[in-house]
Amino acid sequence: MRLSRYFLPVLKETPAEAQIASHRLMLRAGMIKQSSAGIYSWLPLGHRVLRRIEQIVHEEQQRAGHIPMLMPTLQPADLWKESGRYDAYGPEMLRIRDRQDRDMLYGPTNEEMITDIVRSNVASYKDLPLTLYHIQWKFRDEMRPRFGVMRGREFLMKDGYNFDLTREDALHAYNRHLVSYLRTYERMGLQAIPMRADSGPIGGDDTHEFLVLAETGESEVFYDSEVTDLTFGDRDIDYDDVAQCAGVMEEFTSRYARTDETHDEALFNAIPEARRRTARGIEVGQIFYFGTKYSDAMGATVQGPDGKPVPLHMGSHGIGVSRLLSAIIEANHDDKGIIWPEGVTPFHVGLVNLKQGDGATDAACDGIYQALEAAGLTVLYDDTKDRAGAKFATMDLIGLPWRITVGPRGLAAGKIELTSRRTGESEELAPEEAVARLS
Ligand code: ATP
Ligand code: MG
Ligand code: MG
Ligand code: MG
Repeated sequence: MRLSRYFLPVLKETPAEAQIASHRLMLRAGMIKQSSAGIYSWLPLGHRVLRRIEQIVHEEQQRAGHIPMLMPTLQPADLWKESGRYDAYGPEMLRIRDRQDRDMLYGPTNEEMITDIVRSNVASYKDLPLTLYHIQWKFRDEMRPRFGVMRGREFLMKDGYNFDLTREDALHAYNRHLVSYLRTYERMGLQAIPMRADSGPIGGDDTHEFLVLAETGESEVFYDSEVTDLTFGDRDIDYDDVAQCAGVMEEFTSRYARTDETHDEALFNAIPEARRRTARGIEVGQIFYFGTKYSDAMGATVQGPDGKPVPLHMGSHGIGVSRLLSAIIEANHDDKGIIWPEGVTPFHVGLVNLKQGDGATDAACDGIYQALEAAGLTVLYDDTKDRAGAKFATMDLIGLPWRITVGPRGLAAGKIELTSRRTGESEELAPEEAVARLS
C-alpha cells in the first residue's frame, strides 16, 4: 500500500477525551473514529488489525472443530421472553420496536437464538457433539462506555455455543475452548490468564475469564505468580483427546488465580507470600458451562440412545474481538506509539523513502516494495514528500514491527537501514539482504 493513496488520518495532538494509552494511540494513529458514545467507525488501519484478529480467532476455532456461521444482530424479543431474560437483562439491552409493533432487540449475546436454531434442527443424540460459533457485532448499552473500544456499546465478539448429550461431554467442550483460547491469545502476542470467575447474568456452574494483566484493566485480580510462567507454546494438541484437553485445563487452572468477584482471602493467603500478586487485568474472554439452563427453559431436547428425550447440555464461550485491540496496545506500546506483535500487525514493514522524486531512491524503493510483497509480506510504503522526521514519527506511532529507510546517501554505499520497532536497533544492509532477513 502506498501511503499517498491510503487513508491514514493521524493526529498530532493528543485527544483530550482519551484517558488510557490504547485509546489515545488508536485515535492518534487514525484507527478509529467515534460516532457516538461507545460506537466507533473502524478506519482502514484499525480495520486491518480487526480483520487479522478475527482471522486468528476463526483459524483457532476451526482447528478445535467448531463450526462458523452467522446470526443476525437484531433478534425478536419473543425468544428472550421464553428464556426469562427479556425482563432480567435490564437497561443494558437496547430494545427496538419495528413498524409492525413487534418487540425486537439488538443482541447483547446469542444463547436464545442459537438454542432456537438447534432445537428446531437437531433431533437425535447422534447429531452431537456440536459447537457452533459466529463473530458478530453486539450491543450493550453500557452505563459507562469508556476507553475507546475497550468498553464500547457496539463491539465485535466471537461467541460460540456447545451442545452435548452429557455433562461430561460438555465439560470436554469447555476444556477444548480453554485450550483453543490459550492458543488464540498467544498467537496475538498476549498472555491471557484463565481465572476463576463469577457467572453473572448468563448463569452457570463453571466459568473462567481470560485476563491480560495491565494497570489500566478494569478488573482487580489475585494470583499465584507461578501462573505467569505458563505458556502453551506450539505443542501438538488433539482436540478430540479428552484426557489431553483436561490435562491442559488442570495445568493452567490449578494454581490460584481469581478476579475480585470470587476472590477468597484464606485460599490466597495459603500461597507463599513471595508468590502472592494483586494486580489489574483486562477481560478478553470468558468460557461458561451452564448445563441445561437454556435447554430446559426453551425445550431443547434430543432423543437419547434409549429413545427418551434428553435436555441438551450447553456452554457459551466469548472472545472480545474488538476489545483485543485495546488490550494488545495496552500491553505493547511506548511513548512514541504502538508496537504491534507480528501476529496482528496491520502491515509487516514500513518503507520510508527519504527523497521522494529522486530517481535512484524511488527506483530502489519500488524494487524493495515489490520484493517484499512477492515474499508475502505486507508493506506500507511512505512515498509522500513529507520530511524525514514526520515520516519516522508516523511509523513509530502506527507501530509496524520493521522499518526500512531508503535515502540517496545510503544508496551510494549500496545500503539501506533496517530498524526494529520493538528494540529500536538499526542495521545497515544491502536491499536484498534486508528483504531476505524479513522473508
Ligand atoms: P465486562 O465484565 O468487561 O463487562 P462481560 O463479562 O460483561 O464483560 P461477556 O458477556 O463475558 O462480557 O462477553 C465476552 C467478552 O466480550 C468479554 O470477555 C469481553 O472481552 C467482551 N466485551 C464485553 N463487553 C464489552 C464491551 N462493552 N466492549 C468491548 N468488549 C466487550
Ligand atoms: Mg459486562
Ligand atoms: Mg465480566
Ligand atoms: Mg465476562
